[in-house]
Amino acid sequence: METIGLIGGMSFESSAVYYRVVNEMVRDRKGGLASAELILHSVNFEEIVALQKAGDWDMAARRLADVALRLQIAGAGCILICTNTMHLIADKVAEKISVPLIHIIDETAKSLHAAGRKRPLLLATRYTMEHGFYSDRMKSLGFDIMVPDASDRTTVHDIIFNELCAGKVLDSSRQKLFDVIARAVDNGADSIILGCTEICLILDPDHLPLPGFDTTAIHARAAVDFALGMDEAAEEEAA
Ligand code: GLU
Repeated sequence: METIGLIGGMSFESSAVYYRVVNEMVRDRKGGLASAELILHSVNFEEIVALQKAGDWDMAARRLADVALRLQIAGAGCILICTNTMHLIADKVAEKISVPLIHIIDETAKSLHAAGRKRPLLLATRYTMEHGFYSDRMKSLGFDIMVPDASDRTTVHDIIFNELCAGKVLDSSRQKLFDVIARAVDNGADSIILGCTEICLILDPDHLPLPGFDTTAIHARAAVDFALGMDEAAEEEAA
């Protein structure tokens, strides 16, 4: 089994979900008490948030590239940046390492494609919804991403940073997210991307008015596929 390297802490609320889900997936696939070989480097989110607010993406890229390299040196066979937002600088991180960086946008695109979806609503931080790195990459992969209007973007962003990353899950906010989704349904969305790794804490992707794509679970599954790929291929050959 390959060792999975997680760059977490952004926020630790979602890193905890990654840790659980990756391990559950390995146990389900390997049986018994199997669990993942995994190294988690959790950063101080307050420092990353300060860089995001200052728009200092170069410094953020240097910081996460340094962490990625340390995970690689420690034995990680692949690296995951456990946040959609910080994929803004994922290409710069990938340049600094020689093991694969499993890209959350590419993996989400594969899931959407497999489900035949074309026009997903993106629920995410303001950075992910507005900076273009997400929608441009999705566009190049054949998807027409829909983002909420300005006022709804503020609502979603604030729920993520003021509540979910701070460990608060409020029914009133869940209702606000459902209202945002209802407007997207009226505007022709065909699916919902939970495009922030904390949104799965408040929305169940299987109980939405449209098919839901939980980027945390999708990303975790891709890591497990990578980690078990060699083992499973060897087992198939031996059978
Ligand atoms: N985890 C979140 C995401 O997936 C937001 C935190 C961050 O800004 O990195 O975008």
